[in-house]
Amino acid sequence: TTAWQPTWNPQGFASLGPAFLTRLDPTPLPTPQLLAHSPDLAAQLGIPAGWWQTEQAAQVLTGNRLLPGSQPYATVYSGHQFGVWAGQLGDGRAIVLGEVLGEAQKETVATTDTTDTDTAAPSAPGWELQLKGAGRTPYSRRGDGRAVLRSSIREFLCSEAMHALGIPTTRALSLTGSPASIYREEVETAAVVCRVAPSFIRFGHFEHFAARGQEAELRQLADYVIDRYYPACRTAPGNPYAALLRTVAERTAELLAHWQAVGFCHGVMNTDNMSILGLTIDYGPFQFLDGFDPDHICNHSDTQGRYAFRQQPQVAYWNLFCLGQALHPLIGEEDTTVAAIEAYRPHFSAAFAALMRRKLGLPALAQTGTAATTPEEADPATPVVGQLLQLLASEKVDYPIFWRRLSDAAATGQYDAVQDLFVDGAAWQRWLPSYLALLAASGSAPDTAAMHRANPRFVLRNHLGETAIRAAQAGDTGVLQQLQAVLAAPYDAHPAHNDWAGFPPDWASSISISCSS
Ligand code: AMP
Ligand code: MG
Ligand code: MG
Repeated sequence: TTAWQPTWNPQGFASLGPAFLTRLDPTPLPTPQLLAHSPDLAAQLGIPAGWWQTEQAAQVLTGNRLLPGSQPYATVYSGHQFGVWAGQLGDGRAIVLGEVLGEAQKETVATTDTTDTDTAAPSAPGWELQLKGAGRTPYSRRGDGRAVLRSSIREFLCSEAMHALGIPTTRALSLTGSPASIYREEVETAAVVCRVAPSFIRFGHFEHFAARGQEAELRQLADYVIDRYYPACRTAPGNPYAALLRTVAERTAELLAHWQAVGFCHGVMNTDNMSILGLTIDYGPFQFLDGFDPDHICNHSDTQGRYAFRQQPQVAYWNLFCLGQALHPLIGEEDTTVAAIEAYRPHFSAAFAALMRRKLGLPALAQTGTAATTPEEADPATPVVGQLLQLLASEKVDYPIFWRRLSDAAATGQYDAVQDLFVDGAAWQRWLPSYLALLAASGSAPDTAAMHRANPRFVLRNHLGETAIRAAQAGDTGVLQQLQAVLAAPYDAHPAHNDWAGFPPDWASSISISCSS
């Protein structure tokens, strides 16, 4: 079969009502072309493989034609941008087609009576389909509602790359392009990414209703998120909204631990770009670090370095305070609100430490039950990791290559190729024994297979994305598709693309990425 007839979930975001969204259709683009899609996500959504060969696919995924039963809409949110209250924002160029039930959820729904929507239990969340770049909305302000091919390629590739790395993220189902002209710093062409997530709700959605004193809507939104995504918050002891805040703090801590461990710089951590589900969302000027530089700023518009790599965990904590302030009317007690937010810090430290242990090939720490008083007591690897990161930073050692060579070295006991990465070999020689001592103390040989699965061979370095972009702009999507395939299996060897696992070329550092996309 080549027809895709999705099952829409009537209990999705649109059921919240008109205070939360505006119904509108996407604005068509001329002669759309399908440039890439994600087959495994397509299968999860139950899209027939043959559909991709039909002319329908490009039409539907740019928003030119609607799927049967789709009632598209844009949502309203507000937020803090670069630390300053920005007031109302909203989906200025993203239009949601609706929430479809995936293959896994259809069965759950078939066994539940959903005819009485007032009393029926909330159904398992499906997948929201969102077209980014599908035209103006009431929230576009001065924007054109469009996205350019360059930034759409980056979002498409990185969404799927993060997923393959095991990092929570919104997904990308497809990338479509059109020859329509888009004006940024120069004239470019238009593209649309079909983004997919259980929900695109941001911290800013809560801030919006709180700032306006719309407590009924605030509560309705919080109840919706709890019932659909965090039902355990309803039955947890104490205030369910405090439980929600704590859960989001923990999810966010895990996300930030992943970003810091893999060397991912988001670039625009405004509260409207923070997912309530703890997903990486809104890929803009993001960058994977080449050389390890904690002060790296990937967004050229970020002149103060507010979102520099090393600032990210602290910014997330700051953003959680904005969310806490928004939820506070529902929680009531200041101590309770603050305590929920404070869950972030220990959770981040523990999650980051656990990820770094995996990268070092150390076994997971057993839960001792006795409260440690110092970080070193909690985990003897903590100071060793700290010293290593300082060492990498002092020479801006290539971050992915360092970890990959360390994984290879741990397997053989030959660390020469790692030492070659340092000009100051003596500094490396001073650090290495502390690592070898940790390995020895762990009582077993390093699990090098696990280490190779913790240290990707391929990440979406800026210059790799740029290579795919330049080829696609010239009409060749071959590099884009090859890169997509390599990043879908980032721990494997891809002999035809060994160079993509190597050092960046000199021109990589001259790529300038701003917010304008
Ligand atoms: P961002 O900095 O990408 O998170 O976007 C901040 C706000 O600007 C959001 O409300 C976006 O929807 C909106 N926005 C960004 N680019 C455009 C555009 N080209 N057209 C309309 N709205 C946009
Ligand atoms: Mg955004
Ligand atoms: Mg954006």
